[in-house]
Formats: sequence, structure tokens, C-alpha cells
Amino acid sequence: MLTKAPRGTKDVLPSESYKWQYIEGLIREICDVYGFKEIRTPGFEHTELFLRGVGESTDIVRKEMYTFTDKGGRSITLKPEGTSPAVRAFIEHNLYAETQPTKLYYITPVYRYERPQSGRLREHHQFGVEIFGAKSASADAEVISVAMTLLKKLGLNNLELRINSVGCPVCRKNYNKVLKEFLKNNLEYLCDDCKVRYEINPLRVLDCKVESCQRITKDAPLITDYLCDDCKSHFEELQKYLDIMGYDYIIDPRIVRGLDYYTKTAFEIISKDIGAQGTVCGGGRYDGLIEECGGPSMPGVGFGMGLERLLITLEQNGIEIPKPEGVDLFIAYVGEEAKLFTFALANKLRFNGLKVERDNMDRSLKAQMKYANKLNAKFAIVIGEEEMKENKVKLKDMSVGSEVEISIDEIEQRIKNI
Ligand code: ATP
Ligand code: MG
Repeated sequence: MLTKAPRGTKDVLPSESYKWQYIEGLIREICDVYGFKEIRTPGFEHTELFLRGVGESTDIVRKEMYTFTDKGGRSITLKPEGTSPAVRAFIEHNLYAETQPTKLYYITPVYRYERPQSGRLREHHQFGVEIFGAKSASADAEVISVAMTLLKKLGLNNLELRINSVGCPVCRKNYNKVLKEFLKNNLEYLCDDCKVRYEINPLRVLDCKVESCQRITKDAPLITDYLCDDCKSHFEELQKYLDIMGYDYIIDPRIVRGLDYYTKTAFEIISKDIGAQGTVCGGGRYDGLIEECGGPSMPGVGFGMGLERLLITLEQNGIEIPKPEGVDLFIAYVGEEAKLFTFALANKLRFNGLKVERDNMDRSLKAQMKYANKLNAKFAIVIGEEEMKENKVKLKDMSVGSEVEISIDEIEQRIKNI
């Protein structure tokens, strides 16, 4: 136990962390270009927020939350998704009173008690964006384009964008009636979860991963045939925006985010290469959520993207994330005086932005040079008594083995010039 991380969690080791840094850097760049500002919310919230904001019929609330009572007797839940905390902060800090829309993004750990498998963890990480306050379909399209831009910049061109409209409380009411009528005959063959869904939120039956349920719903009536005029034109407008950006997409009436405050657009971005856990990104519009959470009646749209799944997809596609560059300069020393002197020299060069390494293990000169090779150092110098006295060093280019003699003060400029 002591030396084993909890089930469903993962360490990111130095041999992998550069990939995370690369992706996170790219996310921040793209969000900056698109005008999304970062929001950081706490790792835990009052449980009530998620009961409201995620909804009691969802898998997250029914089965997956890490909920506990703290020492003050409050019910607390580790963040199982990013949207409702962002909504809570938006309301709490009166961001709705500022010029709209509010465009937010986050990169956050997320906790869900699930059965761990590839692409399904108990702690995973999500990149998410939200636009609050804009009801136009262009906001939906903008959110989708952020996700698509990230994937494209990473070199993933073969993912499937699937879109749907789940209507609004008005048209969904009619559809739910038709769907329940359709499901009624097979009610006893639905899985236990779907029997509950049938009662509280029939739309979610379409989203069930159990094969027998999928078979039953194969010929179910489609929500897209029951949309009201407003929802229908919103959906058509979204498609126009996607078309004009040149994105391929598939209309998939089985994609649902099934709660009353999820409205209109629902979408997923799917990788066909990673099998069952293929959904890299899921999002949609939630025009009733801000009000549901105690704020003003304001629309919202956003997505959550699983970063572990994104990394798996990259790997499956043979896309390599550029490795960080090696050490610029290795400074070897000979003798006690040079040991001290090179320590200060390394510190000065590091302060000025050079990647410098030096031995901390009392290695022999030969072993120091071997270490320099191991570190992939671009240049190396050896400093002993004489070099210090004459203010002269041989700067060795490690890739070709050639040397030039320069003064110690010239090292920085020389390396920076190359
Ligand atoms: P799924 O149907 O796969 O359970 P979900 O509907 O629960 O997904 P969302 O709540 O929309 O997923 O979360 C957004 C994204 O976060 C998902 O598309 C996925 O990439 C990722 N994700 C969700 N749950 C996990 C998990 N347990 N482990 C790793 N990534 C996850
Ligand atoms: Mg899930």
C-alpha cells in the first residue's frame, strides 16, 4: 500500500511530463488567441452544487462522486467536472454584471469513482472551455473550433466530430413522450440504470453503453425530428458555421447531454483508434444551468476534453510530442578551487537563461565528460587552475568534437549566438 498509488490514479514521471507541458502550453496559446481567460476553481465544492449542476439522473451524481463529510459536518465532493464550479464562481463573483460574453477555460484534475481501465481513471485531467452569456450558434461553433484547433495543431486530423441538438425543455417534452412510448414495450429488457433513466430522464437511455439497450434503441424516434422552430434554426445555423470553417461533421441524434438545463447543441469528438473509451471531447449548450445554480437566466456553452485520452490518441496515431532540448553547456572542473569557481559560473549562466549542468557527485574528469554525453550537452568546457588563471577555456562542440579557445566571459554570447 505504502508504495502503490491508489487504484485509478497515475503518476506523471519526468519521462512523460514534457508531453503534458507541451499540450498545456499549446492549450494556453490557443485559448489566448481565442480570447478565453483562465479560471481556477477549488478542488472540492459543496456536494449540493453538483447535485444541481450535474443533475441527479446522471452517472456522475448517481455513482461516481467522491463525497465525504468534513470535520465541520459539511458534505463535500471532489470536483467531478469543471462546468458547475465555473458557473458557481461566475455567479458568486458577479461576473455576469460585466461585459458579456464571459469566455473561460481551465485545465483541472477531475475525480470520478469508476472502474479503472485504459482511458478511464479515478483521477483524470480535463481541459475545458465555457462561454457564458451568448445565445448565438456562433458561440457553439467557436467552442467547437477551439477543440478542433487544438487537435489539428497536434496533428490529429482523423477524429470524428459528431453533433446533435437535444432541443429545449419545450420540444424535448414532446419528444420524451414519444420516446417513452417507444421504449415502453421493451422496458423490462432495459438495464437497471435505464429503467431509472426511463422514469427521470428517458433521453439518457440513448446514451447507454450496454449492448442490449443499444439494440433496443436502435430504431428509436430521433430528437432531431421533434425540434421546435427555435431549436431547429439554431441547429441549422451551427451547421452553417461549421461548414464555413471547413469542418467535417456527422449528425448523430444519439448524442445526449440529458438534463432539462442542457439545451440545443450536444457534440462529441471521437477517436476511432482507442476503442470503447474513444470520446476525447464532449460538450454542448446548457441555457438553463446558470439559473438552476442560483444565477440570472443566462445561456452557456462549453466542452470538457480528457487529456489522458488525448495522449492515448496521439500515441495510437504515432504522433510524437517534441522532446525538450538538452543541456546547452556542461561545465567540468578539475581541482578544489575550480569546483567552487564553476559552481558560481554555472549559477551566473543559469541566471542568464542558459541550460547549464555541472557535476554534484564528485566524479573524476573522465566520468564528468561521460555524464555530459549522457545529458546530451551541446557544449562542454573543462576548467582547472590554468584556465582560471589565464581566463581561457576550450569550448567543445559535443556533436562534432571540435574546440575553440575563448575567454570565460565570452562563453555566454558564443553559445547564445549558435
Ligand atoms: P464517458 O461516456 O466516456 O464516461 P462522459 O460523458 O462521462 O464520458 P464528460 O463528463 O463529458 O464524459 O467528460 C469530458 C471528457 O472527459 C470525456 O469526453 C473524456 O475524454 C474525459 N473523461 C471522462 N471520464 C473520464 C475518466 N474516468 N477517465 C479519463 N477520462 C475521462
Ligand atoms: Mg462517464
